[in-house]
Amino acid sequence: MNTPTPAASPQFDTTFASLPERFYSYAKPVRVANAAPIIQNPALAKELGIDPQWLASDEALQVLAGNQTAMGSAPMAQAYAGHQFGSFNPQLGDGRAHLLGEIVSPSGERFDLQLKGSGPTPYSRRGDGRSPLGPVLREYLLSEAMAALGVPTTRSLAAVATGETVMRQSPAPGAVLTRIAPSHIRVGSFENFAMQGDEDGVKTLADYCLSRHFPHLIKQPQPYLALLNEVIERQAKLIAQWQGFGFIHGVMNTDNVLICGATVDYGPCAFMDEFNPDKVFSSIDRQGRYRYNQQPGIGQWNVTRLAQALLPILNTNSDQALVDAQQALDDYAKHYGMAYQRIMSNKLGMGEPQPGDQVLTQQLLAVMAEQQLDFTLCFRYLVDQIATPTQHQAIGDAFIAPHELSVWLQQWQQRLSTDLQTKEQRYEQMNRANPAFIARNHQVELVIRAAEDMGDYQPFYALLKVVQSPCNYQKKLKSFALAPMPQEAVQHTFCGT
Ligand code: AMP
Ligand code: MG
Repeated sequence: MNTPTPAASPQFDTTFASLPERFYSYAKPVRVANAAPIIQNPALAKELGIDPQWLASDEALQVLAGNQTAMGSAPMAQAYAGHQFGSFNPQLGDGRAHLLGEIVSPSGERFDLQLKGSGPTPYSRRGDGRSPLGPVLREYLLSEAMAALGVPTTRSLAAVATGETVMRQSPAPGAVLTRIAPSHIRVGSFENFAMQGDEDGVKTLADYCLSRHFPHLIKQPQPYLALLNEVIERQAKLIAQWQGFGFIHGVMNTDNVLICGATVDYGPCAFMDEFNPDKVFSSIDRQGRYRYNQQPGIGQWNVTRLAQALLPILNTNSDQALVDAQQALDDYAKHYGMAYQRIMSNKLGMGEPQPGDQVLTQQLLAVMAEQQLDFTLCFRYLVDQIATPTQHQAIGDAFIAPHELSVWLQQWQQRLSTDLQTKEQRYEQMNRANPAFIARNHQVELVIRAAEDMGDYQPFYALLKVVQSPCNYQKKLKSFALAPMPQEAVQHTFCGT
């Protein structure tokens, strides 16, 4: 920070501001006492066409803390509603976030640049609009880890400390995250208008989404149905990816489902350690509504809410609209099933699909669940079984296969022997699909503790670096790959509110 050379600030071009005023409220971030840099993401900045020198400058620090408005930015909070744990809440909206504006990357893609934890807005209800440091670090780590795994996600461009105290269960230091997303339009953004009977709002938002995210669909005979189909397919594929990495989102409310298909809202989320299909981390998910095995079904429930909101504009014939919506929703299971099996086949190094692949996959998961095997390490162990490249480093005693796995291993080797692909191809495929490093819950908690209690960010930087290269296992990083000891395991996560 404190770069003396003037650097170019981002060029904002905010199309959302051209929408009617009921879509958002102009609101400025609220100044903080003492902005201090925590981290910046220069690699992401480059992808976005943001000058990394600017990102490291004092001007950027002030802008990203909310102390200064960047040139060309007219900050706003977006309006949305949503179903939370199954119940409709008509009044949500950005209660602790400000959209600074949109930027267009050198490759022509448009992104939102949003501050989170930047002070109250007209949608804050009783909230303080702030974010404690812990959830900011958590979101930074988890979102960047997911990006490195190739999962569509919002990204983290920077985090700054506010020098203020945030009151939660106990006082905590405050921070602001700079979040990047293809857009922050949610299923709940549509529900907001639909539930008010504002068909014009629904249509305007649908037109906006089509032109911003899916311009190739505008010329379709039924563009709104095409929009629904596209969102359904993306959501199904996204959740299949979560399942493949043992990721539990934890708060799959419809206000946390983005139309663009990126993962958003890293509140109580976590990667599983030992495989348990019923695993729940979130302290507020008492019924286990969002447990691991429910995620695919909840994904369908969520896109059903979108279908409902779009119903009046899907077809001028309302009976046909219902038929169209139902067909689109039925396709969710097909998209999910195909994506999931493709992901699992990749993880298992299987080539062209064969009858019996699904059964073999399910048999492995059954043993893993029964033996409570570590999800990530068990798959990584399989990579080690087929690894030939000399540069490959095995996880060794980080995972000890129980004898209950041996019959399955033989069947699996038998299945692989019928494939045509080379060992090298298989290795490449499996190595990419099976990370050695995930942002393990107990490690995330440790780095947050170090930052919160001692102001020490070194453990955070170290963990971030490791999860940014998830498939590049090295023995010297073994401690990051290890499953937690029973006394280290973190079983509960909390929303950042
Ligand atoms: P989330 O749990 O992040 O999905 O948030 C649900 C809703 O609560 C959104 O409308 C948020 O903007 C709002 N919210 C969460 N935390 C706060 C806070 N500290 N201050 C104001 N609004 C908040
Ligand atoms: Mg949210």
